[in-house]
Amino acid sequence: MIPSKLPNVGTTIFTTMSELAAQTGALNLSQGFPDFNGPQALLESVGRHVMAGHNQYAPMSGLAALRQQVALKVKRLYGATVDPDHEVTITPGATEAIFCAIQAVVRPGDEVIIFDPCYDSYAPSVALAGGRCVHLQLDPSDFAIDWQQFADALTPRTRLVVLNSPHNPSGALLSRKDLDQLAQLIANRDIYVLSDEVYEHLVYDDVQHACVLAHEQLYRRAFVVSSFGKTYHVTGWKTGYVIAPPALTTELRKVHQYVNFCGVTPLQYALADFMAEHPEHVDALPAFYQAKRDLCCGLLQDSRFRFTPTAGTYFQLVDYSHIRPDLDDVQMATWLTREHGVATIPISVFYQQAVPGQRLLRLCFAKREETLRQAAEKLCAI
Ligand code: PMP
Ligand code: GLN
Repeated sequence: MIPSKLPNVGTTIFTTMSELAAQTGALNLSQGFPDFNGPQALLESVGRHVMAGHNQYAPMSGLAALRQQVALKVKRLYGATVDPDHEVTITPGATEAIFCAIQAVVRPGDEVIIFDPCYDSYAPSVALAGGRCVHLQLDPSDFAIDWQQFADALTPRTRLVVLNSPHNPSGALLSRKDLDQLAQLIANRDIYVLSDEVYEHLVYDDVQHACVLAHEQLYRRAFVVSSFGKTYHVTGWKTGYVIAPPALTTELRKVHQYVNFCGVTPLQYALADFMAEHPEHVDALPAFYQAKRDLCCGLLQDSRFRFTPTAGTYFQLVDYSHIRPDLDDVQMATWLTREHGVATIPISVFYQQAVPGQRLLRLCFAKREETLRQAAEKLCAI
């Protein structure tokens, strides 16, 4: 046996559930990805750029035109002025950006505060940097951060705090007030912030996303990460970006240039063209996904699942405690997939220590109307 550097890591729940869905022929509402294509013009543009010969390495920091478009977008949406040459880096997926940010600032023995339930790549990335995760729990009723608990968890070794808003898996949002609280609590400490905002455009009911880029005090010490995969319905393109002040960007790029060096070239050309020609795409996303959320929730109204419509992301949590309280969520997700043909994600896997008695599954509603109707029919029959 090789002594593992990640002894607690197995196969991710996304792989497990998507494989089970494929094996059993279940509708796959587990792993978060759309079952529809990205915009036609964007897809055609990739083909054109491939044929035009844009097939060699992109610049290490990302194609200049794409970094420029990202800077224009964050100026327009958040009023944030960022220098595309020294503050924006294009990465192969938000996942790489998260990994590189963590490696750039976390040293052996450093503590990193993460809020459970959280996305599964944070803790292994911290472990590989030699850091130690301090897991704090979000309030199980509304997935809000308890800032007093956070204040109590700070130590001289705290080096980084990882935020995720809109939040996967709960859809909860951080408010400007949350960001103010955080800024105040870490003001005189040597602590960085990694803000995972891959669902920045998926915020509903006319609420505005509280972006760390718009918070001057926090941004000075922050990495802000997003994903073109989520925004343009092309998760398989694994293309994302990270925005950070110049000194942090310099350190991040030192890692990025040896993890992958650069992102995929023709995708970057196509995204740059599409962003320039269709800035309205992102403006239409809240209404586009809110309609899917409302359809999904409306259809499940007649089911025995209980839920509060999600505030953001393309995930809906549902409580099944009235249906099979005898099953924990992993058992329930397996049972639903095998017996009822709908695959979901059990959220206990996003915790270091699951909440006793919690009976929640995560559904992904980034699906065609037809898929959502078929799934709801099965779920309402239980
Ligand atoms: N962070 C969160 C919260 C996510 O849900 C995802 C989705 N996979 C990622 C990061 C990774 O994004 P990407 O696919 O661009 O690597
Ligand atoms: N982010 C996606 C989710 O939460 C999955 C990403 C992955 O498969 N690694 O479902």
